Amino acid sequence: MKDQQEAVIRDTARIRQVKARAYRVPAETPEADGTLEWESTTLVLVEIQAGSCTGIGYTYSSSAAAGFINSELADLLLTQDALQIPHLTQTLIRNIRNNGNCGLAMMAVSAVDTALWDLKARMLELPLCRLLGQAKDAMPVYGSGGFTDYTRGRLQEQLGGWAAQGISSVKMKTGADPELDVARVRAAREAVGPATVLFVDANGAYTVKQALDKAARFAALGVTWLEEPVSSDNLEGLRFIRERAPAGMNIAAGEYAWNLACFRSMLQAGAVDVLQADATRCGGISGFLKAGHLCEAAGLPFSSHCAPALHLHAALALPSFFTGEYFYDHARIERMLFDGVSPPRQGCLLPDLDRPGLGLTFKHRDAEKFLI
Ligand SMILES: [Mg+2]
Repeated sequence: MKDQQEAVIRDTARIRQVKARAYRVPAETPEADGTLEWESTTLVLVEIQAGSCTGIGYTYSSSAAAGFINSELADLLLTQDALQIPHLTQTLIRNIRNNGNCGLAMMAVSAVDTALWDLKARMLELPLCRLLGQAKDAMPVYGSGGFTDYTRGRLQEQLGGWAAQGISSVKMKTGADPELDVARVRAAREAVGPATVLFVDANGAYTVKQALDKAARFAALGVTWLEEPVSSDNLEGLRFIRERAPAGMNIAAGEYAWNLACFRSMLQAGAVDVLQADATRCGGISGFLKAGHLCEAAGLPFSSHCAPALHLHAALALPSFFTGEYFYDHARIERMLFDGVSPPRQGCLLPDLDRPGLGLTFKHRDAEKFLI
């Protein structure tokens, strides 16, 4: 009898279909940071079906990641037990070895892993945060935008708007023209007032000496977080800046850490005061949780990068979680393409515990016009 029951469970948990698609969404206006400019963002969505449930996951990547999932990863999952996520994700990571467990291949694995967690929670009829177990009830977020191609007026309007909404921390981009940065940060400070926490992200645009100069000048304007002052590939440079920046200036990085070894290297190098991770790049919900636990072991605060709706439930499961990035462009795309996206309330995202999984439903019909 018990064998029969287990066989039925195994059969309903068997993965029947894996399908990825890519959607290119034009930016509201062209956007730029210290080292890149863009006019659109591509979301790669993967749907995994087992029994009567379908789980969804996504990454912000090249559309090639959708092709990679369909041609290289889908067959590895079909007929497998959807509930055994560590086994499935390890199978995928082993199989991408010759493509590198980083970059595009890891973004594809990340989307699949997230879809598996969404699927498992749906099969068990639980919100994902309840399946993972909660350390927190709410996810604090900071408003993130302030692109380097914004006019002074637009910069002030966006950051000041978040502050007026009760989002008490905001982040702006710098580094495209270092000569202008102090004046831009001063304008942002004027817009958000003295009580709002102000972060700066240079996206690796500065030299080490420039970064030390900016860290001191930004600190005088009450900035408490300097993200990627130099490239994240330069761990010695990050450490050098971290050790010499003003006491209140926290160095943040981690958005390009693709796997657990990358996070360990950053922590061992003493490169950061705040470790960031992006579940759409570092191995999905599984990789994000592992990075969060590693960060807890290092005694540092942990922060999510971009994709706020995707990180919500996993962030709630982590005692070390500090704040999540409410990135302007991704928040806009998530609102457009998914039902179930919670707006920030008093600077926090809260899960809808009546919805299973990530709580998100993809709006296929609305998204059709963006399909690549
Ligand atoms: Mg960044």
